[in-house]
Amino acid sequence: MSQKRSLWIPLFALLAAACLLCFCLFARQQGIGSWEAFSARLWGRGLSEQEGLRLHMIDVGQGQALLLTCNGHAAMIDTGPADCAGRTADYVWARGVRRLDCLFLTHPHSDHCGGLEEIWDTVAVDAVLTPDCPESRALLTEPGSWGDRKGAKTEYIAAGRQFSLGDARITVLHPREGDTFDDLNDLSLVLLAEYEGVRMLFTGDISGDVEKRLIPLGYIHLLQAAHHGSNSSTCEALLEDMTPDIVFISCGKDNDYGHPHQKVLQRLRAVDAVVYRTDLQGTLTAAVQEGKLSVITGRDD
Ligand SMILES: [Zn+2]
Repeated sequence: MSQKRSLWIPLFALLAAACLLCFCLFARQQGIGSWEAFSARLWGRGLSEQEGLRLHMIDVGQGQALLLTCNGHAAMIDTGPADCAGRTADYVWARGVRRLDCLFLTHPHSDHCGGLEEIWDTVAVDAVLTPDCPESRALLTEPGSWGDRKGAKTEYIAAGRQFSLGDARITVLHPREGDTFDDLNDLSLVLLAEYEGVRMLFTGDISGDVEKRLIPLGYIHLLQAAHHGSNSSTCEALLEDMTPDIVFISCGKDNDYGHPHQKVLQRLRAVDAVVYRTDLQGTLTAAVQEGKLSVITGRDD
């Protein structure tokens, strides 16, 4: 072997090691901790223009993060807690989402907005939409706040506002302009999504007292049980008015709060609702196509 040729071998080895080091630094900076996350970021498929409406209740443990997609458009309702923000963002990216038309924050509690920064750093966000309260302003618009530093376009919204998401319509039902509550949970945005005659209701963490203000709303195909299945929510009066076919509950496995409460599950059984839970089934997906609603569990799509 010539001396010149033998020099190439350590040179190549050095170059390969440098490339590996650069890749590891890039992955670390991007918060990519697994091969799945890397391939999701690399190969995430584009959003389908013909997919219809899809709701993903992402398994974020004790918290809530919902992704809605409709014919090439996407929105989120909450971003989950900070401790699984990377997984939430990877899930959204892997669904082909590169831009959110709307990012609704139901209320400024950490189990709903802890993943905000990671989502912001992963996809483009047209607007952050949330109810007005001092805690929201401290997070999003006060000088020096996160939203101010990042240049987030924030709108404080109340009942009566409507948004379109592809061919779906999202209507804000609560809170009313100027509403204040002792419990921030009761200020949660309540959103009604409608597509091809199918109606889905998202209730954040509101209590039964606020739920009663929504009545009469009539038949709802899919309900997100408020406050992770807490006994102070999902009241009998609401269920009798809406008689939901399907109820999604977002809660952590063996959580400290006993969510979902046994009495809530009893009330849901009494109206023949089919219950799906992230603590038991992981990420839940509901799909509406040609006016038909179906639920997919146990796999990430
Ligand atoms: Zn919550």
